[in-house]
Amino acid sequence: MRRAAVFLFFLLATHAALAGAGDARFVVRDVELVDVASFNLRSPVQSGHDLMLGAVILEGSGWTRAEVLDGVAGMAGLLTQCGIRLARMELTRVAVPHDYLDLFTPRSRELAADVMPRRPTLYFVRDTRQRPAFDAEAVGRGNSHSRPEMADSVWVTRAAPDLPVVLAHELAHVLANSGAHVDLPGNLMRDASDPAHTHLTEAQCARIIERGARHGLLVPSVAD
Ligand SMILES: [Zn+2]
Repeated sequence: MRRAAVFLFFLLATHAALAGAGDARFVVRDVELVDVASFNLRSPVQSGHDLMLGAVILEGSGWTRAEVLDGVAGMAGLLTQCGIRLARMELTRVAVPHDYLDLFTPRSRELAADVMPRRPTLYFVRDTRQRPAFDAEAVGRGNSHSRPEMADSVWVTRAAPDLPVVLAHELAHVLANSGAHVDLPGNLMRDASDPAHTHLTEAQCARIIERGARHGLLVPSVAD
């Protein structure tokens, strides 16, 4: 369990704008700037790129803040092998009507368009109504033409096992803008998720960095 020192900040101006222009069905409870330094991430390689992450917890989905932070910290640890540093995380809690709790493209598009969290975004949802049903799903540039509001996002249901690995796998799909899987032993991008499947090759990291930077999802690190 990681106990993070947390900075709460309430974006009053933003909330005022949301209240005026946003959809009253979605109520942003708060936006928290998570103290990612408390994750104590150690990179095996020099950090080259920063990840500024958005995360959204739907109230009533079953996800707790502690579970989400543990999962994201583990995910960020896995991404350090590519020289990616989690530099910022904005955690938004949103109250939604019952039929928006699950991933379902017609509903989830409306939610994403209204809340507009930082991208790339991890959405922590209850379940999925998509068919075929996946425990977690990545929406990159390449598979978002019919749902542009959802581009650059990962949708994680309560059924997802091995949260750090699942988050890293799905975010790698988003950053690389690729749905490709590999058969390499121990590789993060194997089709089946497993706690032991954590490795990314140099070529995979190179694509994640190149595409992620091209799409503005990663930015070159500034020396501390
Ligand atoms: Zn996959």
